[in-house]
Amino acid sequence: MKALLIGEFRQGKLLDSTYELQAFAGQLGVESAMVLVGSEAQAPKFEGKLYLADVARYGEYNPDLHKKLVLEAVAKENPDYIIFVHSSYGWDLAPRVAAALKAGQVSEVVAIVDGKFEVTCCNAKMRRSVAPKSARTVVTIQAGAFSIQGEPQGIPQLEKLEVAESTGRVEFVGYEAAEQKDVDLTRAEVIVSAGRGVGKKDNVPVIAALAKALGGELGASRPVVDAGWIPHSHQVGTTGQTVNPKLYVACGISGAIQHLAGMKKADFIVAINKDKDAPIGEIADVLVVADVMQFVPAFTARCAR
Ligand SMILES: Cc1cc2nc3c(=O)[nH]c(=O)nc-3n(C[C@H](O)[C@H](O)[C@H](O)COP(=O)(O)OP(=O)(O)OC[C@H]3O[C@@H](n4cnc5c(N)ncnc54)[C@H](O)[C@@H]3O)c2cc1C
Repeated sequence: MKALLIGEFRQGKLLDSTYELQAFAGQLGVESAMVLVGSEAQAPKFEGKLYLADVARYGEYNPDLHKKLVLEAVAKENPDYIIFVHSSYGWDLAPRVAAALKAGQVSEVVAIVDGKFEVTCCNAKMRRSVAPKSARTVVTIQAGAFSIQGEPQGIPQLEKLEVAESTGRVEFVGYEAAEQKDVDLTRAEVIVSAGRGVGKKDNVPVIAALAKALGGELGASRPVVDAGWIPHSHQVGTTGQTVNPKLYVACGISGAIQHLAGMKKADFIVAINKDKDAPIGEIADVLVVADVMQFVPAFTARCAR
């Protein structure tokens, strides 16, 4: 079995998630080749064939052109799986490729169990197990769900994909800076985040007080933001910010993959949860099994001494 991995650049930088594609292919136990639209100087570490197309003159993303390039590599490699990251790039390009190939598509895979793909459903509260019947399958993987062990290795065998002089019907105009936020969590060294376990909006100041006592910023999980308790600029996760603090304190947060994707690179993780089996315990350096509204005020008082 063979997989074609579709790597990704954003604003000229290779995304780390490109290595997650390799981790996924490794778990799937398939041989892999990669396609990357970018220059040779930006090639990732990779053991295998890397198809490169330098089409910067058409902008960073051009759907028609990128589809053609992927299809060209598919024709050369004849892969069983074509694998994208479930990013805005993957959301846009994967279905175009699947439709062109009349292939099946499985979106947002978070795990492989007994050879089947697991995808989340019911707002990520449950998982479905999916076994595609199609001869060829396009897959998108949830960012953060698959991690490569150790440093990426290998020198790829480069092959250039030639590009027809056509830009297609869509023109890449550029990136627009997001609106100015009241907080930049990406620079914070300490983040204390509130999850649904804090119970109600009135309890948020208790978590904010701990963030302040530790000289950090207040973060949040998505349900807390959706409920309007904390603004979206504080949300950590796939649809919030990806953070890299020295200390991350998760208060009443279960540890859903979408949250972990945004914070699992923190140097040290403390989780406070009344459930000793909460999934966050699997990545936390310290799991405090306690009621968050009892523990946090006492801890804050101790920090403030
Ligand atoms: C497409 C998509 C994108 C998403 N993007 C994001 C994202 O960017 N960020 C994000 O966070 N989520 C995101 N989610 C939602 C995600 O799947 C989870 O639903 C969410 O992270 C759960 O938030 P939570 O841990 O605060 O709540 P819950 O999962 O409800 O967990 C609450 C936790 O609090 C604990 N608890 C309850 N009461 C107490 C108490 N008194 N003391 C201590 N512990 C207590 C419980 O044991 C539980 O572990 C996304 C989902 C989808 C489908």
